[in-house]
Formats: sequence, C-alpha cells, structure tokens
Amino acid sequence: MDQLNILVVGSSNTDMVIKAAHLPSAGETILGGEFFMNPGGKGANQAVAVARLGGKVSFICKTGNDIFGKQSLQLFQDEGIETFLFSDPHNPSGVALITIDDKAENCIVVASGANATLSPDDLKKADGAISKADFVIMQLEIPLETVVYVADRATELSAKVILNPAPACMLPDHLLEKLYLITPNQTEAEMISGIKVENIEQAKIAASIIHQKGVKNVIITLGQEGALIFSEGQYHHVPALKVSAIDTTAAGDVFNGALCVALAEGKNLIASTEFACKAAAIAVTKLGAQSSIPFRNELSLKQP
Ligand code: ADP
Repeated sequence: MDQLNILVVGSSNTDMVIKAAHLPSAGETILGGEFFMNPGGKGANQAVAVARLGGKVSFICKTGNDIFGKQSLQLFQDEGIETFLFSDPHNPSGVALITIDDKAENCIVVASGANATLSPDDLKKADGAISKADFVIMQLEIPLETVVYVADRATELSAKVILNPAPACMLPDHLLEKLYLITPNQTEAEMISGIKVENIEQAKIAASIIHQKGVKNVIITLGQEGALIFSEGQYHHVPALKVSAIDTTAAGDVFNGALCVALAEGKNLIASTEFACKAAAIAVTKLGAQSSIPFRNELSLKQP
C-alpha cells in the first residue's frame, strides 16, 4: 500500500538541558551536573519521530533569523523532512530551558519567540503542503488561531486532523468538532474535560466527555500506565511497556509521531496505539528530546 502523507504544523525550539539531583524550588539555586543543547519543540520532535519511524512527512514551522533557526533547518533536511520554514526577522528562535532530576521528572520553561508569530497568513503560503496531506498533526506551541485555521482548511480538503493539545489550554468547540483524533495527557485531559484524571476509570469518563464535545476519537496518554482509547463507543486500554525510565522528555511527542506513522500505514487505532506505546517506551530510556527518538529498526529489533 502507498504510504499516506503526514503534515506536522508546529513549534521548533532549541532545548538547553541541565541534569540535577532535584528540581529547584522557588528562589533556590542548585548546582546541576551535565549540560547539553538539543533541538526540540513539540512540532519538530513529532516531525522527526515520523521521519525516523518511516513516515512520509512535511513540517511547517517558524524560527528566528539566527543560528538556532539555521541549525534547525539543516537538521530537518538531514532527517529527510520536507520543510516549510518561515523566518521571523523580528523575533528569536524558540528556546526551552529544561531541568531533569534523578527520578526522570522534568521542569520546562519555553520562550516561544518566532513560534508565536506563525500566522494563518503564513499558512496560506503553504497551502500546497496542506492540500497533499492525508493526516495533519498539530500541538499548541503555535498560536491557537493558526491551529484553528489549519484544522478548518485541512478538513475542507478531507485530511484527518489530529491535535496533541499540549501544553494544556482551553479549546474552542469549533476546533474540537473538526478533529478526527485528540491525544491529551492526563493534565490536558483534565483541562478539556473538567474532571480529574488520575487513573484509568477517570480517564474513561474524561474521554467520553471530550468525545461529547465533538471529537471523533480520543486517546488519553497515561505515562507509565500507557494509553486509553475511546472510539466508536468503546474503551480500550493499551498498557505501557515496562522499562526503566531515564528521561520522559518528548515521550508524548514520540507517541504522537509514531501514532501518525501507524495510522498512515493503515493500522487501526488500537494497533497504532500499541506501536506508539512501544516507540515512546524506547524514548524514555534515553536522555534528551530528539536524541531519544527511536528509528524504525529499533522497534522491530528490540523489545524494550
Ligand atoms: P507526555 O509526555 O505528553 O506528558 P505521557 O507522560 O502520558 O505524555 O507519555 C506518553 C506515552 O509515553 C505514554 O502513553 C506511554 O506510552 C509512554 N511512557 C511515558 N512514560 C513512560 C514510562 N515511565 N514507561 C513506559 N512508557 C512510558
């Protein structure tokens, strides 16, 4: 079967990471350990995940006219991603400051920079990329009005729109009604449904509330508990693989990228979620965002 086209529209950041024994509390200064810089941003991470896992992917993003932007473009090209990169002459490229503790918990502050100026007008100039997409995936590190514009346009062109609603924010009903699939984590599911999501039973209730808002299919990711699918009136829990987690940064991004690849290969939602859980489990055993994204052969060769 021919592979379907996946379009990612989203953020590109440079992550600056420090490992530390614990996450600092307000006003505290701590001495950390290892420091490294890594390309990141939810959009870029998901595009790289799709490419490494064997999907046909295009990526639309915006960076500053600076060294980080140039490095990102080079990286996307090296990964084999068809890239539509808009350059903002007035704002710097996005940056994220990340601290990771011994328990693999993290704490992240993002300066969005040029990501925050990716506008519907920019997207109008990349209409060709939207037209040829079969699946469009977005996150919320770019302006909501741009996400809404792309969801409307992609739906008009019969593409299936997937939203990874991260970071958590309130979403208009008009957007939810356009979605083929939404993939919140527990915090995001709580924000959208208005109920606590601390276990699988609560996730089921949240998923059905989100579905009632107009989204066709819902997958709530539950960290080490895996993921809960609600589709066509049925719930299905896919457990996570048991691994020793080192860094959960980008677990959700790898999950989403892998999910798109499997869907574009014609797998159903359950099989796609199983594939996504497997890819994400490999990612949490490695340090960093894009550095932790597995390649397709790691999934077939290695059972994590
Ligand atoms: P996010 O990273 O967006 O907060 P989650 O924490 O829910 O999202 O993780 C996304 C997916 O990554 C989960 O559904 C699961 O498949 C996988 N995952 C996350 N943490 C672990 C873990 N400790 N062990 C195994 N898999 C994990």
